[in-house]
Amino acid sequence: MNKLYFTVGPTQLYPTISEHMKQGLREDIYSISHRSGKFMEIFKNAVQGVRKIFDVPDDYSIYFTSSATEAMERVVENTVEERCINFVNGTFSKRFFTIAGKSGKKAEKIEAANGEGFEQDQIDRTLNSECICIVQNETSTGAEFPLSDIYKIKSNNPKSLVAVDMVSSVPYIKPDFSKIDIALFSVQKGMGLPAGLGVLIVSPGSLEKARFMEERGIITSGYHDFLTMEKYFQKNQTYETPNVLGIYLLGKVCEDMLAEGIEKIRHETEVKADMVYDYFDKSTRFKPYIRNKKIRSKTTIVIDVSGKSAEITSKLAGEGMVVSRGYGANKENHIRIANFPAHTVDDVKRLLAEFENI
Ligand SMILES: *Cc1c(COP(=O)(O)O)cnc(C)c1O
Repeated sequence: MNKLYFTVGPTQLYPTISEHMKQGLREDIYSISHRSGKFMEIFKNAVQGVRKIFDVPDDYSIYFTSSATEAMERVVENTVEERCINFVNGTFSKRFFTIAGKSGKKAEKIEAANGEGFEQDQIDRTLNSECICIVQNETSTGAEFPLSDIYKIKSNNPKSLVAVDMVSSVPYIKPDFSKIDIALFSVQKGMGLPAGLGVLIVSPGSLEKARFMEERGIITSGYHDFLTMEKYFQKNQTYETPNVLGIYLLGKVCEDMLAEGIEKIRHETEVKADMVYDYFDKSTRFKPYIRNKKIRSKTTIVIDVSGKSAEITSKLAGEGMVVSRGYGANKENHIRIANFPAHTVDDVKRLLAEFENI
């Protein structure tokens, strides 16, 4: 029997993936040219699916990259001449910051301790920055960045672009695109796809900034600068030979989620998150790591297991269930439980029931 993956990414595949992969083989999807009409249809379907699930305005472009990490790099390279600011409170937000520095930008950070949210005065600050980079769901700690705070940052800094990493909260999270400029994610977490595809959603203003920089010879990106991606996006193509399998599956899974009811999926995410938090709030041995309920992630739930992560993961594995251990220094002390659309209410019940035997 296959295992049940509650890992935070890669994770349990969305249940329809296997059938779509086989259908792709039957239709020769993986052999066709990325300049063919058939591919353009696949591309269009994926773009349309993403647009519908996240209510992306028609004038925002949607580009495909190899990963979310690549998308972070493309964002700073294409929107920042000199200065950007990164909100940092964990490993992935730190990665975004590090990439900005390595791309030769003057990157500054506004910091909170790992697992903590940001103070009101950090949110309310006026920032002198071309691009403000935010990780909406910090997968390393299970702390989320409330969308309302992100919108406040944008309204306090209307001239800055605001770029949001929403990798581990999609498709649950749906930002208001009139209040942010860029969003990025990869597909191996909440979308339940195999890894190897990033999605980068870009406002007309961000593209304008890239054009302005391009004209002055500032952009350092190689083949994946925004203007090249835009040119091919307009033709329903990509510059390079892309991850056709990933793009095909993304379009199909978006269709499936829309047919299932995306708002129903979002509601179920909350129901399942409440089940997990309730259980561990009541537990006498293991506690949710994030104490502040306002910033508790709904999709990547971190539990403090005081040094027992190896024992717990091995017991769960014996029952055919896989959870993630803590990130980095917290490897022993935390376990991380994903709560994505591929995880059913019954799956979550089964997982929690097993904790009774631990
Ligand atoms: C996993 C993750 C990433 C990196 O995604 P890749 O597809 O591996 O590049 C970035 N940000 C967050 C919040 C993540 O959870």
